[in-house]
Amino acid sequence: MVRYAVLGSGSNGNCYVFSDGETSVLIDQGYSGVELQRRLVGIGLDISSVAGVCVTHLHPDHAKGLGVISRKLHVPIYLHTAMVEKEPVVFDKLGIPQECVALVRPLEKFPIGPFVLSCFETSHDSGGSVGWNVTYEGMNLMVLTDTGCYTQEQLLLAKSSNILFLEANYDEQMLYSGPYPYYLKQRISGLYGHLSNVQALQFLQESEFTGEHVYFIHLSGTNNTPSLLSDLAKVQMKTSFTVCEKGQCYGGNMEKS
Ligand SMILES: [Zn+2]
Ligand SMILES: [Zn+2]
Repeated sequence: MVRYAVLGSGSNGNCYVFSDGETSVLIDQGYSGVELQRRLVGIGLDISSVAGVCVTHLHPDHAKGLGVISRKLHVPIYLHTAMVEKEPVVFDKLGIPQECVALVRPLEKFPIGPFVLSCFETSHDSGGSVGWNVTYEGMNLMVLTDTGCYTQEQLLLAKSSNILFLEANYDEQMLYSGPYPYYLKQRISGLYGHLSNVQALQFLQESEFTGEHVYFIHLSGTNNTPSLLSDLAKVQMKTSFTVCEKGQCYGGNMEKS
């Protein structure tokens, strides 16, 4: 059985966990060591089970806890080679010990315990950004976050996913009538920004997703509301879904059918 959880998502911190109870894999680590531990204990997992961390990109809400966890646990931190090449200053500041840095390329498959991981490119204003695919006993779990647009490759991956963690960052109208300065509105809604509610639902439809469940993640606290997204999704979706409120924990488990 695989357990999975959104330990938290949104601008205050992002972290996802996949575990068989003994070995756990994290995707992103945007929390302090204490906060991560608290959130893991909250779903009955011990921090010592973490055997590796895969990173989507180096923005602080996804990466600020990488140094702490790598120094504490001495586990590999998997990064797309281009992340380190394109963001050398940000990367150095994280303080990940050299021996913990594990560089991988998109679509390269590698194991962490019973899990097989691979990343795919996303479109975001942080060099080398990627999403992740997690396979466990033939089940596929996909994390697609922080991307301004989506690709054919991502649509195909979603089609064969059982569980999908999908960004739905903003409502267009809320963003444009909201308090953010113009340049930031442009950035968020641009090709290197974030997926809107409408884009996320379009993605689901185009991908012909037939998996078990969708978690909508990385909602903006300023430019979106869970109820707005939920109302929209109810009308357009047949699959069961959860709208993840900013900072809150959600999860479940799945067995091979
Ligand atoms: Zn980002
Ligand atoms: Zn983010």
